[in-house]
Amino acid sequence: MPEGPILVILKRAAEQFKGQKVTDADGDGKYIDAAILKGQTVTDFKTWGKHFLICFPEFAVQIHLMMFGSYRINDHSAKQARLHLEFANGELNFYACVIHLIDQPLDEVYDWSADVMSSHWDAAKAIQKMKEFPKLLVCDALMDQHLFAGVGNIIKNEVLFRTKIHPLSLVSSLPADKLKEMVAETVNYSFDFLKWKKQNTLSKHWQAYQQEICPRNHIPFHKKNTGKSHRTSYFCDACQVLYHG
Ligand SMILES: [Zn+2]
Repeated sequence: MPEGPILVILKRAAEQFKGQKVTDADGDGKYIDAAILKGQTVTDFKTWGKHFLICFPEFAVQIHLMMFGSYRINDHSAKQARLHLEFANGELNFYACVIHLIDQPLDEVYDWSADVMSSHWDAAKAIQKMKEFPKLLVCDALMDQHLFAGVGNIIKNEVLFRTKIHPLSLVSSLPADKLKEMVAETVNYSFDFLKWKKQNTLSKHWQAYQQEICPRNHIPFHKKNTGKSHRTSYFCDACQVLYHG
């Protein structure tokens, strides 16, 4: 599943179309009638967590790549795109994504301070919000898009390994410094993810995600679906501390 840093890469790649008029638009019609985009000028591209936003003067198109979505720029696959936008200088195509039209101001729809890749990211606010949920597990907190928009399963696993926190720890049981460290490392790792993805070396840097052996203790990782999010956690009992009660 594309996590936040991938959306930042998409945004940068799409920026060549900012200020450009959509000369033609079509799609499979599953979510929107693409014809309404024809003749519209792109005013901006934005991201919020795993959402990609194509901004037009009166509304925005929200694209969520979900588990299997993909995009192609100045290139297309043989199958019909869910959304195909043509410009004088190229084309933008999205496949297997979910699309919504947003006609409210984006600042009313999105809390930019919850996006780990945003310059508006607010660590103190994230900590404050987590305190409202005393039974929240760290593995669920990191996957919660209202708390850490953009974080997915790769970031979750790598952050918990880096900070030596067991995924089934309770947020409320973490010492204050440890909680701060987890939040700070979530942003740090997300930017490392971005850098390594651009270098095409992301998976080479995985220390826990999809790994068999803990690189610190040289013993097998546990691989389990954890928490309400039921996503796979890779963790080591020897070096990742369970904070519980
Ligand atoms: Zn270990």
